[in-house]
Amino acid sequence: DGFPSSDATKPRPDADGRLRPRRMDEMVGQRDVIERLKIAIDAATSRGEPLGHILFDGPPGLGKTTFATVIPAEMNTTVQMANGAGLRAPKDLLPYLTNVSEGSVLFIDEIHRVPKAVEEYLYTAMEDFRIDVVLGDGVNARTLNLELRPFTLIGATTRAGMLSAPLRDRFQIREHLGWYTRAELAEIVRRNAVKLSIKVDDGTADLIADRSRSTPRLANNRLLWVRDYAQSKADGNFDRNITRAALDMIGIDELGLDKQDRNYLDTLMRVFLGGPAGLDAIAHTMNVSGDTLEDEVEPFLLRSELLVRTRRGRLATPKAYEHMKRPMPD
Ligand code: ADP
Repeated sequence: DGFPSSDATKPRPDADGRLRPRRMDEMVGQRDVIERLKIAIDAATSRGEPLGHILFDGPPGLGKTTFATVIPAEMNTTVQMANGAGLRAPKDLLPYLTNVSEGSVLFIDEIHRVPKAVEEYLYTAMEDFRIDVVLGDGVNARTLNLELRPFTLIGATTRAGMLSAPLRDRFQIREHLGWYTRAELAEIVRRNAVKLSIKVDDGTADLIADRSRSTPRLANNRLLWVRDYAQSKADGNFDRNITRAALDMIGIDELGLDKQDRNYLDTLMRVFLGGPAGLDAIAHTMNVSGDTLEDEVEPFLLRSELLVRTRRGRLATPKAYEHMKRPMPD
């Protein structure tokens, strides 16, 4: 079976488990963020208080979940993992909140997907470490005021702009995770090659870094794919040439764009004459969800100046035409 390039930014369970850093010092890059977090952790620990609530935002695969696992590790505490999409009603939140131990971490990924009713529960939980639970209904309904153990909420979102101000303001620490440099990605590839007991020379690490869209998760996925490819085609050894062949085979180009990224640009140029075109129209034509495009495809195209967002819609840049080897329309 081929490599699902449209899922390239999704976690590969085997990779995310094994290659994810366990401690903050094993993380590469994000030095400013790490420095600020260390200070906050030190201060909270020496005061014997739980760490303030933390919000991470940034594109998928840049380390939000990794931070949510290394922070509790630094604090010698436990973490519960939840997803905003799974918290449909306040009752879905209760097991997590009643299970928190003093100073432990509750991680809510995709926190922008939490519905309003659940969000309101979070307000008092975060602020006063208590929640009001309504038991029964109608005339028999009564409200139970539940005291929670002080805990730290870590929220992650790819859409900071979709968070309501009252929720955002309840996070004492807010950190944006930015793209990784080529050197940082190459370092991640080298470290993970050691974890996987495979040999990767510097040139090969650079090549994988160049084709990973500035994203650690993609660097890991590409490394694992190249390893599989080399295993079946070249006795497990690989150099730049084998790496290039392996990445070409799954449609990863020199800029690191995958098939879905190029399909997006191709649709915009072919069907919408380069734009401006609305996100929904592009999504319908490609038969994928607008959310997927906005989360997984557009951020890197925007950052690479292959795409611009105007008030009237998405517009392909001259650089995009050049990359796609298409003539610019007049
Ligand atoms: P997000 O939650 O932002 O989507 P993750 O934290 O799941 O991203 O990161 C995806 C993978 O990338 C992790 O499993 C980890 O192996 C790797 N990774 C992310 N950030 C770093 C980092 N700073 N240093 C090393 N590896 C990282």
